[in-house]
Amino acid sequence: MTYQASLSYAVSQDQQDSLHKFREQFHFPRHEGKEAIYFCGNSLGLQPKALQAAIQQELEDWRTHAVEGYWKAQNPWLYYQQFCRKPLAPLVGALEQEVSVMNTLTTNLHLLMLSFYRPSGKRYKIIMEAGAFPSDQYAVETQVKLYGYNPADAIIEISPRPGEHLIRIEDILQAIGEQSDSLALLLFGGINYYTGQLFDMKALTEAAHQVGAFAGFDLAHAVGNVPLQLHDWEVDFAVWCSYKYLNGGPGAVGGAFIHEKHAAQLDYPRAGGWWGNDESTRFLMEKGFVPKATAEGWQLSTAQVFNMVGLKTSLEIFGSTSIAALREKSIQLTGYLEYLLHQIGSINFEILTPENCAERGAQLSLFFGNQGKAIHQQLTAAGIIVDYREPGVIRFAPAPLYNTYQDVFHVYEIISNIQTF
Ligand SMILES: *Cc1c(COP(=O)(O)O)cnc(C)c1O
Repeated sequence: MTYQASLSYAVSQDQQDSLHKFREQFHFPRHEGKEAIYFCGNSLGLQPKALQAAIQQELEDWRTHAVEGYWKAQNPWLYYQQFCRKPLAPLVGALEQEVSVMNTLTTNLHLLMLSFYRPSGKRYKIIMEAGAFPSDQYAVETQVKLYGYNPADAIIEISPRPGEHLIRIEDILQAIGEQSDSLALLLFGGINYYTGQLFDMKALTEAAHQVGAFAGFDLAHAVGNVPLQLHDWEVDFAVWCSYKYLNGGPGAVGGAFIHEKHAAQLDYPRAGGWWGNDESTRFLMEKGFVPKATAEGWQLSTAQVFNMVGLKTSLEIFGSTSIAALREKSIQLTGYLEYLLHQIGSINFEILTPENCAERGAQLSLFFGNQGKAIHQQLTAAGIIVDYREPGVIRFAPAPLYNTYQDVFHVYEIISNIQTF
């Protein structure tokens, strides 16, 4: 593929793009009367236009059926989470019974650590990436304290080498090897939120298993972005949120994966709730928790219908394409952004994200040093919505479902014309 830095090239790419039609199905925020260029789907995905009617439907079913809506609603509420579970399974590479749609990401991380972080004797350590998302850091810190360990001793963070931005897989594997007697859990982001580095989850899982540890992943930046094969990779568990690439809406219900070999084990330690109980006895309201033998055995509560309807609506759009097709476009689209950025000579920046497309998703993280904030302000003023992270990093995430080659070209034009001091 030979890219060209011209609008006519971008227009022709959009014309040839079989996914271009999906753009029409989303609301774009507006800037000075025009659609803004939105490269922030890694932070909050856009609203599907079909959502308003979908919410109206639930309101109407509640109004007309009240409690009978659990059975009589157009989308019966009793099993509402299953409308999301089914289309999610191919996105994460799981069997349907390995997926549970519930709670929020951090809540699910805590719940699954109760099952998969079981420190005992010498084996109590957790390996994670340095610079993990703060919520993950806090979850892990408080979990190890829960069992009486000192986080400074129990948590091993893998950092990039001095002078580098990315974590080398060989450094993670080495740390796993060094902790072969003491490692209880490897917990990594599938894609690091800051650098956009995509980790080899299959290799990491294998390495953790070789030393007798569990492997879990936070897929906040990976789900809906890159293809995943959680079942085949034998990942033990994973958690994600649904408001980034999945467009579920602010605070949308999260998700969890539990490999079937674990999900079928009814004796795993866990926090129980009636929605995780075996359906055949759930409504007997009897003593004695009997978990479902699936990932839904970790559910606690009745489906949060109004919090799930956004995800359900968005997943219907994902269902009319495939993650493979999205990924193919995404590699081209992000590659085009990278190509154009390399044409810019007027401004200094460094791309932190890996160059190899197999080691990244949609996002490119650009480090602008002490110019970062000023440049972010100029981009915002020009109608480009991107996100700024201290110190000096702007993350650009062209989402293949609704972003275009023309979006990428316009961003390039605007960055080329930025005045720096
Ligand atoms: C966005 C994100 C979260 C957010 O967690 P919530 O519990 O949904 O607020 C957690 N971890 C990572 C890596 C994220 O990118």
